[in-house]
Formats: sequence, C-alpha cells, structure tokens
Amino acid sequence: MALLEVNALDIVYRVKSPLFGKPVLLRAVNDVTFTMERGEIVGLVGESGCGKSTLGKALVHLETPARGSVHIAGADIFSLKSSALRKMRRQFQMIFQDPYSSLNPRLSIFQALDEVISLHFDMSREARRQKAAELLEEVGLPREALDRYPHQFSGGQRQRVGIARALAAEPEFIVADEPVSALDVSVQASIVNLLREIRDKKKTSFLFIAHDLAVTEHISDRIMVMYLGRIVESAPAKELVANARHPYTRALLSAVPSPHGKNQEIIKLSGDVPSPLDYPSGCPFHPRCPFATDKCRTEVPKAISPRPDGEHLCSCHLF
Ligand code: SF4
Repeated sequence: MALLEVNALDIVYRVKSPLFGKPVLLRAVNDVTFTMERGEIVGLVGESGCGKSTLGKALVHLETPARGSVHIAGADIFSLKSSALRKMRRQFQMIFQDPYSSLNPRLSIFQALDEVISLHFDMSREARRQKAAELLEEVGLPREALDRYPHQFSGGQRQRVGIARALAAEPEFIVADEPVSALDVSVQASIVNLLREIRDKKKTSFLFIAHDLAVTEHISDRIMVMYLGRIVESAPAKELVANARHPYTRALLSAVPSPHGKNQEIIKLSGDVPSPLDYPSGCPFHPRCPFATDKCRTEVPKAISPRPDGEHLCSCHLF
C-alpha cells in the first residue's frame, strides 16, 4: 500500500471579487491525484502562487479540501474523529520555508523541541532532554545548542532546528515547504543532503516543495509540476529533466542551466500566471502556451502516459 494517496483533491476559497466585492470562488488546488511510497522524495515545482504550499498544507491537515481525499497509511485524514486525528498527527509533519519565523524567539531550542516531544511521548524530563539532544546531533548540531535561543544561530542552523522539530514526532511523512529558498546558495546543498540522509536512514517520505528545478532534481526521486493548481506533468526526476513533454515543464527547464536540457528546444515563458479568480477555460496553460490550438482553449487535457508503466504522466493535447 502507498504511504500517501491523494485522490481528486480540490481546495477552494471563497473570496471577495476585486472588481465588484461580490463573493467568488478561488480554486487553489484543482483535481489533484497522486500517490507516494514509503521513503520516497517527491518534488513539487511551479511558479509562486500556483497552489504548491496550499496542497502541502492540506496533506498535513492544515487546509480542508472542498472535494477529494487524502489517505496516509490507509487512514482518510479528513474523516478521522478528533481523538484519532490527534494520534495520527504524529505521522505527518511540516518544515517551513522561513527558519527565522518558524521558531519562537522566546523559547530555547530545548523548549522548542520539547513542545513536540512532550505532546507525542510520555517521557520524563530527563528522557525528553536526551531525545532532544539526539535530534540535534542527527541534524548536525551539537547538544550544547539545547540551551541556546534561535537568534544565536545562522539561517542554515535554524533550518536544522526546524528539521529536528519536525523529526521530534518521528513522522513517516514530511512536507518540506521551500525549505532552502530563504538560505544562501552555499547552505542549500547541505540542507538538501541532510534531508536525503534522513530519508535513507529513517525511510521518511518527503514532499519537497520548491520553485528551483535544479535543487529539486538533485533531491527528488520523482517530480510533479504544478500550474494553476493542477499537476500538469509528473515523472521520475531524471526522466522529467531529460525528457520533459509538457510545454510548461519545458519552459521551466529552459530557464535552468542543465547538462540534460542542452539539446532541448528553448521555450520562453511570457506573461504572468493568470489569476485563479479568472481561471482560463480548457487547458489552464493556453494563454501562455506557444503551441495552443482551438482545442486547447475549450478542452481540459487528460493526463496520459508516454510510458507503458504509467510512470510519466503529462496533461497536454499534443501528447
Ligand atoms: Fe499548450 Fe495545448 Fe498542451 Fe495546454 S494542451 S500545454 S495549451 S499545447
């Protein structure tokens, strides 16, 4: 059984129309279906505002879908009663983008870790302190750091504390929401390598959300590309980068200097992502797609696979 099963997920907000102030529906996540295996790292890429973070939050029960389901280890997380959900919450955790704001500056590192440890485990203070020290060592920080405060650490070290905090619950699944975007390039690789080490050691599954395809390729087993709330292409990471099918993926790759992409046609992405309040008909990418036809303007393309094993899915009428 897959660790995570997401089926036909829609997340919709009721917001005020900027023109007339009337309530309108904003579709942030649109008919998203995918699975993740234990120990798998799946990258989720797309431009800002495409719904990546909203989807990530729904997977850890921080957003409620309008339709669809999320099963983790077989349990439908949106149908659980509150006591069962409390127990289940340990299984899924989140690492946030901004290590500066995701830690309470008034709490020592031990207190920050202990908030999670004491919530999920019935242990003495001494045992909790020991567990917190081991967590710090696991993320490459000395145990003496337990009694320091967030302002005494660099951005990369603070993100390590954020990772230790997520690991404190011993989860099976972690959503890492742009965990390296706020960090210097020199620090990004060390954090990405740390996440891979954790996966190798603990078989934790990660949804790695990013807008940088090069970083995502480095860490992910598989990559999903999101545009206006829809997954438009997904494939094993190396295949997606070497043999992208969807014009949007190819446009994203055109912007990345990559040895795999050098024989690929350059597709320039023009204009901005349309507002989800003014969702395009047919293929959502058609207003920016250089290959759009009349069919693209009226019919939503279905996900089809150019591979018999179905591992590479692409939603485009051209394929
Ligand atoms: Fe472009 Fe049409 Fe394919 Fe959409 S379906 S990506 S508009 S060619």
